[in-house]
Amino acid sequence: MGEDSSLIPNCTGITPLEQALSSPYFQYYEHLRAQLCTYLSPASIEKIDHCFFVADFAHRDQKRASGEPYIIHPIAVATVIAQLHLDVDSIEAALLHDVVEDTQITALMLEKEFGTTVMELVQGVTKLDKLRFQDYQEAQMENFRKMILAMTKDIRVILVKLADRTHNMRTLGALRPDKRVRIAKETLEVFVPIANRLGITEIRTELEELCLASIYPMRYRVLKAAVTRARNNRKEVVSSIKTAIIDRLKESGIDAKVYGREKRLYSIYRKMVNKELKFSDIMDVYGFRIILKDVDTCYRVLGQMHNLFKPRPNGFKDYIAIPKLNGYQSLHTSLIGPHGIPIEIQIRTEFMDQMAARGIAAHWAYKENGSKYVSTTSQKNAQDWIKNLIDLQQSAGSSMEFVENVKTDLFPDSIFVFTPDGTIYNLPKGATPVDFAYALHTDIGHHCIGARVNHRAFPLSRSLHSGESIEIITSSTACPNAIWLSTVVTSRARSSIRQYLKGLRSKECQLIGRRLLQNALKPDRIESLTDDKIALILSNFKEKTIEDLYTDIAMGNILTVSVIKFLDPNSHRHHELPVKGTGGMPFTYAQCCMPIPGDEIIAHLAQGRGIVIHNINCKNLRSSEKGPGKTLDVFWNIQVTANMEFKTGLVVELENRQGILSEVSNAIDVAGARIESINSDIKDEKNFIMTLIITVRDTDHLDKVIEHIKTVPNVTNIYRRK
Ligand code: MN
Repeated sequence: MGEDSSLIPNCTGITPLEQALSSPYFQYYEHLRAQLCTYLSPASIEKIDHCFFVADFAHRDQKRASGEPYIIHPIAVATVIAQLHLDVDSIEAALLHDVVEDTQITALMLEKEFGTTVMELVQGVTKLDKLRFQDYQEAQMENFRKMILAMTKDIRVILVKLADRTHNMRTLGALRPDKRVRIAKETLEVFVPIANRLGITEIRTELEELCLASIYPMRYRVLKAAVTRARNNRKEVVSSIKTAIIDRLKESGIDAKVYGREKRLYSIYRKMVNKELKFSDIMDVYGFRIILKDVDTCYRVLGQMHNLFKPRPNGFKDYIAIPKLNGYQSLHTSLIGPHGIPIEIQIRTEFMDQMAARGIAAHWAYKENGSKYVSTTSQKNAQDWIKNLIDLQQSAGSSMEFVENVKTDLFPDSIFVFTPDGTIYNLPKGATPVDFAYALHTDIGHHCIGARVNHRAFPLSRSLHSGESIEIITSSTACPNAIWLSTVVTSRARSSIRQYLKGLRSKECQLIGRRLLQNALKPDRIESLTDDKIALILSNFKEKTIEDLYTDIAMGNILTVSVIKFLDPNSHRHHELPVKGTGGMPFTYAQCCMPIPGDEIIAHLAQGRGIVIHNINCKNLRSSEKGPGKTLDVFWNIQVTANMEFKTGLVVELENRQGILSEVSNAIDVAGARIESINSDIKDEKNFIMTLIITVRDTDHLDKVIEHIKTVPNVTNIYRRK
């Protein structure tokens, strides 16, 4: 052990299939392999053969709780993933998902052997495995689910995790009863809602069934026996109604698949608990599903069913026009059958049926001849999904709420972090340890002197990330630092700090201000400033005495950098920032005008928000705010910005028609820009106004993007967001 070469065996000279065949456990892999051969190319199968070989080698001496060889587990997880018809990367990640955690193989080795995407997927799953759910109260569960989504840049990580959990739930029997119940509860509270949110019904329903069986084994057995009995009694009625439906469709010459639909045990159980229905009330309803070619036929068939059986008042739901939040589409109708038998029919297209079963996973499905199918970054994947939803939404013409919800899930504006004892806090993106300290308690904020993140020292000014655990170090003699005002993002922290500074006796305030200025002046000393220079500073900043200047610095009314800048307009203390002239102070880009290289810019010293870079023509910056001490002249540092991307806002007005939104996003892709977020508003009956936040390199790049968007038919107007 220890030498890398012994961990991933050398297998030059033998084909991937020969490698796989050399494993004593090939028999377990054979079935998965056959399944993959039905939808993946021979080249992909070769990659997966090699992957199985490596995973098997790595887990060779490990056993599951059941005593079986460990490799059975990754193979089963990959099989669930294969049932969703996911791409090669997902299958490889499924086979390797426990390798980094449980064997000597490192992420680096995985990257070398299988590429960055597979390595990142495996690492994502490993990271989720480290979260401990069981300690949390129900009230925290919603936050927890959001955090999982926020931590996951690539949804495929969650799909592998869901598959992992599915197999673990199937094999729960090997564990102690108390452990079984704990895992089942966690599954029901965390993973089932996520599967539901992503629309992956196949996995969700299986997990629900398994959870019910583990948490309430007695109820499950009784219910199961009752359902089996009832199903047998129903057989004749089901087949006669089914025949009636099929005959009617045949008469009209409509091609359709008709299924008798059996309710899941878990859904029967929920209905009995929640709606206090009797078992017989639920089982007496006969469910059917009709799958058709296109949407028009769905509505036609709906009419025919209403003609065949009498519809129940208020028994109709149109989820085609108004999809459910997870993208589910179908027509639902309740009818009264022969002898008053209650009937429920779901009517949908083939595509909607796929979506209903696989949800988001349907979008990663491997396409043999998919011309445009690329699975580069997660961002791209998420965008593809959103694109799809927008079109879905648009063809349905219903409210934008749907897209809004999905957007907040995939581009969250929040981060979720822990206290050392595991309580979850929800903070805005960009929050620092100081924000966190004030979120805990004002006193903790006031006295904080440092932070440890994931047990390591962490600067108070740096942004936190989802999933991190934060410990605040306090000292009873410490007090808030005015400089924090330039890095905190929560209004709670900001106002607490300002409140404190205001309350300071002027003497202390002056001391703090003096210390701040001295820090900024380094290595020069305040004492070495000549009286003339000081007089100049005072008149420039309209201060009577140097003590007043110190006080304003402490209060955050004047930033030290503008004093330094005044003293030495050519000071270039830091060269590596994309904007020159801020004296190395941290800054942010204004959200109103979102400047990009090529724009003329100005730095504004916003009260309590530090330095903000605006477009020089920004309307939000009134002329009164452009006075001395309030603004700095700044310039783009072209050497640095050349390799960077910047966010900016674009408004596109367009005439509503099928597919136009995906054509617009496509045009943006082709121009090499990325969409960060989309908002749309209805202008009038025919027209939409879409506000996009996109990332571009500079104004030239933006012009190119605009040119591309203009080529999309029915785009009526396009301009920079002001
Ligand atoms: Mn696992």
